[in-house]
Amino acid sequence: MAEEENLKVAVRVRPFNKRELGRKAKNVVSMSGQVTNLTHPDDPEDTKAFTYDFSYWSFDGSKEQADGYFAKDSPGSRYADQETVYKDLGGGVLSNAWAGYNSTLFAYGQTGSGKSWSVIGYGANKGIVPLFCNDLFRGISENKEQKEFEVRFSMLEIYNEVVHDLLNPNKSKKGLPVRQHPKKGFYAEGLKMALVTNYQEIEQKMNEGTVNRTIASTNMNATSSRAHTIVGINFIQKFKNAAGQETAKQAVINLVDLAGSERVESTGATGSRLKEGAAINLSLSSLGNCIHALAERSQGRQVRVPFRDSKLTRLLMNALGGNSKTIMIAAISPADINYEETLSTLRFADRAKQIKTKATVNEDPTDKLLRELREENDRLKKMMQGGKIDKDFIDADGDGVDDRVTEDVKKKWEEEMKARMLENELEMANMKKSYEEKLRMAKKDFVDPTIAKKEQEKQTKPHIYNLNVDPILSGRIIHILNPGVNTIGNRKGEESNITMISPSIQEQHAELILGKDGKVSIKPVNTDCRVLVNGSPIQGDTTLCHNDRLVFGATQLWVFQNPPESKKAKLPNQTITYEYAQEEIAAKSGVNMTSGGDADMAKLQEDLLEVMPAVEEANSISEELDKLVKFEILMVAPQVLGKPTGKTEVQVKMKNLANGTEFVWTKEKFLNRLYMMKEMYQKYEDEDEWQKPEEEDPFQESLDTEVHIGTVQVNLQPLAYNVELKEQLEITNYKGADVGMMNVELIPCDSKGHEYTEADDKFVDAPSDLVGKDVNFKVKIHNCRGLPNKYADMYCTYKVYLEEKEARTKAVSETSNPNFNHSKIYSFSPATEQLADYLAKGTLTIKVMGKQRVRKSAMQRINGLTTKDMLKSDRAVFSKTANLMNGFQMNGRVVDPQKQSIIVELLLMKKTQARLQQKVDSIRKLVKEAENVSKVRVSTSLLKEVLQANTPEQADQLIRKITGFP
Ligand code: ADP
Ligand code: MG
Repeated sequence: MAEEENLKVAVRVRPFNKRELGRKAKNVVSMSGQVTNLTHPDDPEDTKAFTYDFSYWSFDGSKEQADGYFAKDSPGSRYADQETVYKDLGGGVLSNAWAGYNSTLFAYGQTGSGKSWSVIGYGANKGIVPLFCNDLFRGISENKEQKEFEVRFSMLEIYNEVVHDLLNPNKSKKGLPVRQHPKKGFYAEGLKMALVTNYQEIEQKMNEGTVNRTIASTNMNATSSRAHTIVGINFIQKFKNAAGQETAKQAVINLVDLAGSERVESTGATGSRLKEGAAINLSLSSLGNCIHALAERSQGRQVRVPFRDSKLTRLLMNALGGNSKTIMIAAISPADINYEETLSTLRFADRAKQIKTKATVNEDPTDKLLRELREENDRLKKMMQGGKIDKDFIDADGDGVDDRVTEDVKKKWEEEMKARMLENELEMANMKKSYEEKLRMAKKDFVDPTIAKKEQEKQTKPHIYNLNVDPILSGRIIHILNPGVNTIGNRKGEESNITMISPSIQEQHAELILGKDGKVSIKPVNTDCRVLVNGSPIQGDTTLCHNDRLVFGATQLWVFQNPPESKKAKLPNQTITYEYAQEEIAAKSGVNMTSGGDADMAKLQEDLLEVMPAVEEANSISEELDKLVKFEILMVAPQVLGKPTGKTEVQVKMKNLANGTEFVWTKEKFLNRLYMMKEMYQKYEDEDEWQKPEEEDPFQESLDTEVHIGTVQVNLQPLAYNVELKEQLEITNYKGADVGMMNVELIPCDSKGHEYTEADDKFVDAPSDLVGKDVNFKVKIHNCRGLPNKYADMYCTYKVYLEEKEARTKAVSETSNPNFNHSKIYSFSPATEQLADYLAKGTLTIKVMGKQRVRKSAMQRINGLTTKDMLKSDRAVFSKTANLMNGFQMNGRVVDPQKQSIIVELLLMKKTQARLQQKVDSIRKLVKEAENVSKVRVSTSLLKEVLQANTPEQADQLIRKITGFP
């Protein structure tokens, strides 16, 4: 009984957050019925419509109730609250579970779009998981008499292609292996499946799992937005079927909170050196590939679906293409600055809705199940003894071509066979056990009592709680302060009672002292220990107040709470957020987050808030691992990047302190590198092999990497008048500083490249006069002068008009004054209006590229110095050469467009003037000649001809006619 159906897709748009409200962001999403519309922020005409099974409006029309629940603000409100979404989506999952179908629900969207809100929920706004579990147990208690039930709960996280058991975090650092079972599909071997008997137990388990995620994120330096969380619920109903046989009906429910979908495609990675980009988010990009392939398949095309490419797609294989009823929630932001991400999410959802799955009811008599398991194991045993490796293994990548059978493949196969048999045996044992027996075993390992105890103590005792960039992980770790000294340090043991494992946290880092009077003060252990209170660094003893923000080392963010003090002073209840604490730190280092400004400014601010702590962290890791690298934030104007228009971008400069080379990375590239740096740091912490070969080291950039030395902007306007331009222009680098000069020419010519001279006089009065004529010109780059003497393989590159490939000069090395002697002809036959417009208004951007050479002097200078020594004098996060603009430190100087156009105008005026002069001269000549021959009248037609003559020679010829008439 297989039921084929399409994957259901729901879109949900969240409300504006505080910052978006503050800057009066524009909403680009609207909904009506099943349709979701997305409008381009700069073009109201450009609206794209998407149709899904459900479109949920959670943007406005809500009101916060006393308990914190967001409900409709009026009966007519369109606001989709948690109950509404649950009823549609979760309700379906619930009835499927009772019917014995497997179900999967996954949430997709960029970080901060509301995935966790929908799947897990916040406080009173419970998400689908808790509401589903609540309903499930309600149903169970109503049917207790007729049936026996078994519910198991599991929670895992996939981070960096490693599967972590969130209910058993210490089990294995290497993570759980993902195995394939012929009947069940893929599963995580050894995953703890906690037996739960009521809703409270599930809630406790979920809390435990989330606390473990938080610990991993805080102390194991993981980037939580790049983790996928899968909550699994295994629901078994046991009863006697019509034939009186003992029967089991089983449903596996997976609720998936995916990693943030941003940056999957736009990683800015070049080359495959570090497998940057795609590989970092392998699971998510594989999911995209699978969904793409499955959508193709639904159109009847025969394509391979690469399920085996990643851990996530293996574990979701059933959900996507097999025995499951599946729902996807696409979470989107309404804000203008998220337009691109929102569009990509909606397109992803559009593909997903085409996918078809085939669910079957999993119901069988227990005896049959037992017999099958036994038979399966007999079969596996025989196969093992026979040594004949099965097809799946010889073709591990599933491309239909057999791989070579090596010893390694054989070993893996044997391991897999053993794992399968073990899994079957466990299942048989489990089936034979009575429910009471299982319960007794489960009670032994139930619930970590410290979590519940701390939740109670935090009401009355001074404590600190964590802040995480992911709001769902904030406030999950609580340290209750003991009377007297509480030491914070990076090692577990006697020296410290509070352990924080992060770069630049010292063995003994800071002391929190709870006095007899109930007051708490804080003190760094020595000057190497970075401690910030409310964004400012402190050295000595500092008394803390309720709600003070604390930073330890580079990344540990905490909030201090003193409940007795707060009660006494009747302080209002105030929730400190991660954003608040970060903005405070930014403000103290001179960057004020203004609430005004346009969308571009808002994006710049958000990027800064993301990159500032990241650069701090990268520098701390560099210091700890002694990588001799320093990172600095740059704000680069688009003109400097060679784009005529666009937004100022946050980029990161990587300075190699050892050899003086510098590389500028995009924000995406830097964040990807940081992800790898953290992984390296974690290995170092775990005392694993952490050093990597140079080409895989995230702190290294190959000296062969081309860098952008500088840019020249050439005004094309002269070409629009068929006038040549010969210029020596400044070359500016990413900081807006001059790094040299370039000698460039743009010369009109004929189709063979013969350059027009003054005498050819092809000058036109207006660019529109070019339309319909043949237009040819040469771009000549003669040389550069005065470049810094540290580049090899220098060349220039540029793109004219609609040209697809960049033109480039030859490469020159070992000089500050490279001669390129480059010349290239461009021909347009005939010129279009668009071309004339391009020439009249456009600029040609010429980029100077090159490779850095290592300065020997720099190498010698650092002899014996560590990264720490070198960073001591300069820990500034912003590039020192930065200047201030709009209250921001700007490195990108905008090339003054005014200056260039004045030069061109002058050139054109000179031309016009020369031509007028020539005409006046010709008329004078004509008058003089007429007087010479004593002529009183000159015909108007002759006058006209002389005025229209293009050259003095032509005019002379005409004038000579006069003498011909008596
Ligand atoms: P994600 O898991 O996609 O990174 P979250 O679910 O954590 O995003 O949501 C980000 C923020 O937006 C949270 O602070 C959350 O409170 C808020 N939020 C998301 N969806 C909603 C909603 N439907 N209603 C109100 N607030 C929401
Ligand atoms: Mg989330």
